[in-house]
Amino acid sequence: MISKNLEFVEENISKACKKAGRDRSEVTLIAVSKTKPVSDIRQAMDCGIKTFGENKVQEIKDKTQEITEPLNWHMIGHLQANKVKYLPGRVCMIHSVDNRKLADEIEKQFAKTDSVIDVLIEVNMAGEDSKFGLTPEEAPGFVKEISVLPHLNIRGLMTIAPYTEDPESNRVFFRGLRKLKDKINEMGIPGVNMDTLSMGMTGDYQVAIEEGATFVRVGTGIFGERDYSKAQ
Ligand SMILES: *Cc1c(COP(=O)(O)O)cnc(C)c1O
Repeated sequence: MISKNLEFVEENISKACKKAGRDRSEVTLIAVSKTKPVSDIRQAMDCGIKTFGENKVQEIKDKTQEITEPLNWHMIGHLQANKVKYLPGRVCMIHSVDNRKLADEIEKQFAKTDSVIDVLIEVNMAGEDSKFGLTPEEAPGFVKEISVLPHLNIRGLMTIAPYTEDPESNRVFFRGLRKLKDKINEMGIPGVNMDTLSMGMTGDYQVAIEEGATFVRVGTGIFGERDYSKAQ
């Protein structure tokens, strides 16, 4: 099932790249394995997937302990400052930086291991109350503020678009995130030259790719529906 799903997703990614005149190599698929067992992750690995997304620090700890092959783990979910200490050596990117306290803690914990972590700034493009992230208006100032932290490498922006049956309705948010990235780059903040847009999920990744996504985060489309009733 997972291999068939991956074939379908890959086909859609290729089509979207072609439609947008982009090279397939510009887009990385993040297989979002949250709530899913290690056996599912292994199936995806067997299909050549090396990049996985998780939204809970505990799951990252557990899964990186069980799977020791070199993989790229991305922390894509809301992150509490007191959990950051578990991430050095385990993840290669944090997608969800949206407040100073969290940024300072990331700085502190990655400085301890003398490593620099790639981060994305989460922006709540649709202004949904249920979602984390900065407003588009706050984002430029925030990037400037945290650009002085030497153990954070600000690679770009991330957004979680509204759940919708009509992916076209999210195009405006993806386009907005891309424009915001360009605007921040034009500010000429020392050390900031963002090249990454993490946007698009199972329902809307093709549209996100057309609007410039460099990471798409696909869970359900690869691993099937998640069952939150089972304790992980
Ligand atoms: C769960 C999750 C996804 C994947 O969602 P699907 O709709 O299952 O593809 C993507 N991004 C984030 C931040 C998530 O938490």
